[in-house]
Amino acid sequence: MIVDLHEDISDYFLMAGATSVTQPFDKDMEGRHVDIPKYRKAGVRLVFGSIFPMVGGLNSRLMAGLSGMYKEWSPASVPAAPREIAIEQVKTYYSLEEMYGKHLRLVRTGKDLDGLTSKVGILLHLEGCEALSEPEDLRIFYRLGVRSIGLTWNYDNKYASSCRSGKDYGLTGEGEALVKMANRLGVMVDLSHAGPRTCRDVLELSETPPFFSHADAYSVQKHPRNATDELIRKVARRRGVIGLTFITSCIGEPADASRLAEHAMHIARVGGAGALALGTDYLGIRTTPTGLEDITKLSLLTDALKRKGADKEMAGKMMYSNAMNFVKRFADSWGGW
Ligand SMILES: [Zn+2]
Repeated sequence: MIVDLHEDISDYFLMAGATSVTQPFDKDMEGRHVDIPKYRKAGVRLVFGSIFPMVGGLNSRLMAGLSGMYKEWSPASVPAAPREIAIEQVKTYYSLEEMYGKHLRLVRTGKDLDGLTSKVGILLHLEGCEALSEPEDLRIFYRLGVRSIGLTWNYDNKYASSCRSGKDYGLTGEGEALVKMANRLGVMVDLSHAGPRTCRDVLELSETPPFFSHADAYSVQKHPRNATDELIRKVARRRGVIGLTFITSCIGEPADASRLAEHAMHIARVGGAGALALGTDYLGIRTTPTGLEDITKLSLLTDALKRKGADKEMAGKMMYSNAMNFVKRFADSWGGW
């Protein structure tokens, strides 16, 4: 069984995501990272469906200017009309549930997590809070079904600094108010894409355990998106999880199952096996790790883990139970909607 903490499903359907082709989701499409037949074959139970309110940057001169503001990063997309795009993406998930209700279910309450054997649960995650004009707006998005937020994508915003920030100012006053609002509503706070200082601030402030939906280990691959040992330790101590991601630049060379298993073993050594989870970023990545071209191939990762000395229990924790238990601890407070 599998829980995947990060997939760009609505971005794929609305903006064509990392690929240029969209097809019915109940068709096993050759070369597509995930779809309903692949979910069923792989035993996927729950997926965090990302809402990613960015569009491709059209003005190359302005984009070059943006690059200069961030560390070693040339942005290809920009937050444009983020609230409108976020709402369009929420509607995309509603449409998917309506069209494929036999196989998919949006997860809004704890009860929705029960009986996810015949259906795949989709939990809405806001990747960057540009769509929120003020912290109070999280109430609106909560009512739309959002149960998890990342404060930033790679851009700094008025809530927090990102992992690409040249300044890394951490949480702003509005960012603090937003974390408190998330705590009150039982919305999970994701540290993926956040700057080091933002991560530290959230870990100090948040009453609920923060987590990384999609990141690898910084000690294995020095990439600003990856979690340092200090962060792995702190997140694990708070009983949060770290979703191992398939972004090849985060994995390092050679980007394959064996190298991913190295990241997993490192996270387990530093934070304990209870911190391990999975956040592939399927449909959001252009290149997949070798051998892990789609979600039905994850047994390759399990095999690689075992070769590195993990027992069967550890693989199961990483693929499913750690993340499911983590979500269930929040689900208790999701009444009424
Ligand atoms: Zn991401």
